[in-house]
Amino acid sequence: MRWFLASGNAHKVAELRALAAVSGLPITIHSAREAGGMPPVVEDSGTFRGNAGKKARALLAVLPPGAWALADDSGVCVDALDGAPGVESAYYAGPQSDPAANLAKLVEVMRAVPEAHRGARFLSVLCLAGPGGVEEYFEGRCEGRLCREPRGGEGFGYDPLFIPLGYSATYAELGDEVKSRISHRAKAWRALVDWARRAPPVSMAAPGRRP
Ligand code: IMP
Repeated sequence: MRWFLASGNAHKVAELRALAAVSGLPITIHSAREAGGMPPVVEDSGTFRGNAGKKARALLAVLPPGAWALADDSGVCVDALDGAPGVESAYYAGPQSDPAANLAKLVEVMRAVPEAHRGARFLSVLCLAGPGGVEEYFEGRCEGRLCREPRGGEGFGYDPLFIPLGYSATYAELGDEVKSRISHRAKAWRALVDWARRAPPVSMAAPGRRP
């Protein structure tokens, strides 16, 4: 089965593709580009769940009948900022999504915040939408804290600033292998896999069948 990811973010595609490859489920992850492109979506619901649903439904509407759409809405929620940037993570520094500017803004905003108040968490909500009106949601979170200056060269977005609980290195220093075990997205994906094993959607019962 082919699932199309409702995102233009190549990093998300790569992470979910890698997670799917080792999940044992008969699915492969494809980019929205492979299905003609991601339709524009205004991410204005105010929640990760609402935005994930909007993105999944928007892509599903342009896929061939029988296909599946998977959406991830995610972001970093900082205690000292009352949960910001949160659902606004992609647009923290302005209406044009600019990961470098977003990261620089968070570094500056947090500069005077002492060590004891630098707690943060990443959240991811996955929405799987498919034939027969299936629309399922899965959440994952990763607790941690923010360091003071970006560190590490892997990953994307706020990865160089986020140190997961139990580690002294950032997501960007730990790299894909660790992130694929402990990240918010990996946990949401595992919840999806548990669901798919418990209650496989009809077409998932036929490995190899294409939508
Ligand atoms: P979305 O594509 O609207 O869900 O926006 C997600 C934004 O949150 C991204 O642009 C990143 O800024 C941030 N984000 C989400 N997940 C991650 C991650 O795994 N690492 C770093 N930043 C992330």
